Parts: sequence; C-alpha cells; structure tokens
Amino acid sequence: MTRVSRRRLLGTGALTAAGAAVSAAAAPSAAARTAPLGTDVVIVGAGLAGLTAARDLVAAGRSVLVLEARERPGGRVYGLPLGDGTTSEGGAEFIGPTQDRIAALAKDMGVATFATYNEGKNVYYRDGKRSLYATDGVLGAVPPDWGVLDLEVALLKLGDMIKEVPVGEPWKAAKAEEWDAQTFHTWSRSNALSGGARFLMDAFASATLSVRSQEISLLYLLNYAASAGNESTPGTIDRLIGTRGGAQESRFAGGSQEVPVRLAAKLGDIVRYDAPVRSIVTGSGGVTVTADGLTVSAKRVVVAMSPAVAGRIDYSPALPASRAQLMQRYPMGSIAKFVAVYDTPFWRADGLTGQAIADSGAIDATFDNSPPDGSRGILMGFMNQANVRGLDGASADRVRAAGLDSFTRLFGDRAALPKITAFQRWDNETWSGGGPVGVAPPGVLTAFGPALRAPCGPIHWAGTETSGYWTGYMDGAVRSGERVAREVDAAL
Ligand SMILES: Cc1cc2nc3c(=O)[nH]c(=O)nc-3n(C[C@H](O)[C@H](O)[C@H](O)COP(=O)(O)OP(=O)(O)OC[C@H]3O[C@@H](n4cnc5c(N)ncnc54)[C@H](O)[C@@H]3O)c2cc1C
Repeated sequence: MTRVSRRRLLGTGALTAAGAAVSAAAAPSAAARTAPLGTDVVIVGAGLAGLTAARDLVAAGRSVLVLEARERPGGRVYGLPLGDGTTSEGGAEFIGPTQDRIAALAKDMGVATFATYNEGKNVYYRDGKRSLYATDGVLGAVPPDWGVLDLEVALLKLGDMIKEVPVGEPWKAAKAEEWDAQTFHTWSRSNALSGGARFLMDAFASATLSVRSQEISLLYLLNYAASAGNESTPGTIDRLIGTRGGAQESRFAGGSQEVPVRLAAKLGDIVRYDAPVRSIVTGSGGVTVTADGLTVSAKRVVVAMSPAVAGRIDYSPALPASRAQLMQRYPMGSIAKFVAVYDTPFWRADGLTGQAIADSGAIDATFDNSPPDGSRGILMGFMNQANVRGLDGASADRVRAAGLDSFTRLFGDRAALPKITAFQRWDNETWSGGGPVGVAPPGVLTAFGPALRAPCGPIHWAGTETSGYWTGYMDGAVRSGERVAREVDAAL
C-alpha cells in the first residue's frame, strides 16, 4: 500500500500535482478558513467510487483533490492482515458476470482474477441437522418435499416482479407504492408456507445484505435483484446469490484491495489520507471543504460514500430536506468476516466446496478463501446482522471461539485447529458504519429515493448506493464514480 505520511499531507499551502491550492493548519486558522478557490473538484472519500471519479476528472483535465478519512484507500475494500505478512479479503471480495466496470478497472490496474473454489457440495445446517446439497442452486438445500415447490413458486413470483422494476429508479415501478409499503419478511410469509422456503428467503436477505428480512422493503429487495445485471442482461436473484455464473464467481489475485491501492498510487499526491472531512459550506463561488487540519475551496464537491456516512458531515446551509432526511433513513447492515487459516483446504478432500448456510451459530454463510494454488486452506465466515451484534463487547477469545464453533459444526473437527484466525467487523468502523451496503426500510425509496443521486447545488453524490446496476457491489461503486465524473465535468 502507498502510505503518505501525515507530515507530508499537511505541508502548508502545498500545490498538488493537479494544481489544487490547499491551506493547511494543525488547528483551523483564519488563513485556512479563507483558502482561495484553488481546485475544480474536491472528492470526499477514496473508496472505489471516489477514486474512479478522480481518475476520470483528472483525465478530463480538471484539477482534483481527494480527501480520505482513513490512512488507506479502498474503504469497504480491505486486505485484512493475517499477522504473517499476508492478507485475506476483510471486505469486498468477489466479482462476477456483468460486473463490467470493476472488471475493466481491475484489468487496467493489472489485477487478474481466478475462479472461486466451487467443486463438490455445499453444507446446509438447519434445526441442528447438517446436510449437503448440490451447488447448482438454493433449491437443492430445501428438504425434497413440498418445500421445494413452495420456494420455486415464490422465486417465480419474485422473478416476475423484478422484471417490472426500472433499474436504478425503483420508485417509478407501477406497483412501487404497494411494494414499498411492506417488508420482504411480510411478503415471504404471505407467499411461502414451508419453514424451508421461509428460512432460505431470510438467509438470502442476511447473506446478501446483512440485515433481517424485516428491515428492508420488498421494493428495495426487488431493485437490488434488478440491478444485478448490465445494460444488455437483466438482473436476477440467481446472479446475486450464485457462485458459478453469479456474483461470487471469481476473486482477485493478490486480494481485491490491489485494485484501489494501485489506482490510488497512480493518482499520487492528489489523494490525501488522514483527512476526515467535517464540513462543507456552499457559498456564491462554490464550496469550502474543511477536513482535520486542512481547508480547501473548490467549484464542486463529490461526496463518495454511503448516505448514512455522508450524513455525518456538517452541511451549511442545510441541505434540502429530501437529501438530509434520506441520510437519516438509509442504514447500513451489520457485517463481519471471520477467517481461519489451515495447513490445507481439508474440506476439499471431503468433497465440499467450503460454502455453507446455517440457521444457528455466529456464522451464517461461508466460503473457501484459500489462495488460487490451494497451498493453504482459508475458511471465511460471514457474521451477519444479529449474530455480529451478539458479539458486541466480546473479547478476541470469545469471538475466536464463536467462529471456530461454527466452522467445526459445518466442516468437522479439523476446523477447530487453525494456525491463524482473524476478524474484521464493519458496523463498528467509524468511516463505514456497517456494510456491505445501505438499505431502505419500507417507505424510503418511494419518498426519498430520487435524492440518492440528485446534486444539491455544487454538491454531487457518488458511492455504490447511487448506482443503477450492481448497487451494493464494487461494480456499482465504479459505475457511480464514472457517472458522477461525467455529471461534474458537464456542470463545470
Ligand atoms: C464485508 C463486506 C463484504 C463485501 N463483499 C463484496 C463482494 O464480495 N463483492 C462486491 O462487489 N462488493 C462487496 N462488498 C461491497 C463493496 O465493498 C462496496 O459496494 C464498495 O466497496 C463501496 O465503495 P464506495 O466507494 O461506494 O464506498 P466506500 O468503500 O465506503 O468508500 C467511502 C470512503 O469514504 C471515506 N470516508 C467516509 N467518511 C469520510 C469523511 N467524512 N471524510 C473523508 N473520507 C470519508 C471512507 O473511509 C471510505 O474510504 C462488501 C462489503 C463488505 C463490507
């Protein structure tokens, strides 16, 4: 990772590579507050959205400064240190078909992909019983009774509704009000009667969005699935949840963090770290953006992060209520990853993919996170929603015991003896507030949805939550950065 020292970042009155004049001060001074209009665009956030926007605006000849709160780029894309000099994906990890924009960016950065390990059977753990199912769909997980039919009928109904949702503008669906007035939980209880089908629909919400199905509107869920495609291929639930042919199909060689790390390195000194933005003041000539120890004036600002985290910045004058209240109503899920490293991927010899879903234990979904050559085995478990909140305040030992208890239940006794464990939770991260994505409870998309992307004067919004296709994913973040760069360039 490119690390820029804090001292270097705070060089007073530095002129950046792209020509942005910046005033700096350890404590805000009068000079800092009256910095001249020096840069065309300030971008707040060096996640994939902000970095992509910076790349495109620099290419368009604009002067740009990126202010990032953390000491690293990538935001929700992060290589979790394993303590032995290697990392495992602690945040975003997978890439799949139709995710064209993250694929193009990774190619530009020279980051290759490889297939997620997917040979054998998946583990299904429910009501204290462990069983195996074929990897070609969730239907194989339901006991072969009428529950299969029940789930199949519900999925067909969902599929029909998904086709009715205009991608990125779900509030324009003919039945938007009706679908936004109910939770996904309400809908699943009215449309599936078997325990197996209901469990799998809840597991779908938990594994995909890290929330309970009670927390999201049906319209939000339908839009999320509609967005899992591209301009020529409609989105489907199968593409969201699938490994082969779906969003979990491939991984990045060296870890997904290589993509933002290399992009940030290419952008160089225009990316400033340890610079959390506290306020954005709009005036007659543009905006004044104040970060810790740094004040910059610009013609336009891009806020590139989730609505919930954007809501922590102080805006003056106050934003229109549609935007201000959207930021109060678009919460993040609770998500963590627990990783265990073994000498070998022993589950492969047992005919298992390393993928599992479970209704109990701290981990409710797993993947094989081993390196491409299988030279050692890495199991990754998602701790989602109430499971991770159940570990609030837990010691590292308790977290480790909870994670290994789940792995042992799912993959046998050998899972109890890893060489290394590591844990990354996102809901306690100040600059993420949770993950993988902001979600909309009932009533939010229809009343506030258009405010996701609508600029507020010189303030523009990016971040995966604003994307039409692949909202919630790295691909959506890249698409949002490309869209906002076009928007800002046109406005300038
Ligand atoms: C555990 C987990 C697993 C995931 N798995 C996948 C996956 O397999 N595949 C996939 O495609 N996606 C996955 N995602 C989602 C993916 O990570 C996100 O969609 C994407 O990274 C969002 O990028 P972004 O640029 O929109 O936002 P972010 O990555 O959140 O970037 C926002 C940036 O803004 C910074 N920031 C916040 N506040 C301020 C401030 N006031 N001042 C300055 N900077 C600030 C943050 O530090 C951050 O760097 C996962 C996410 C998580 C958490």
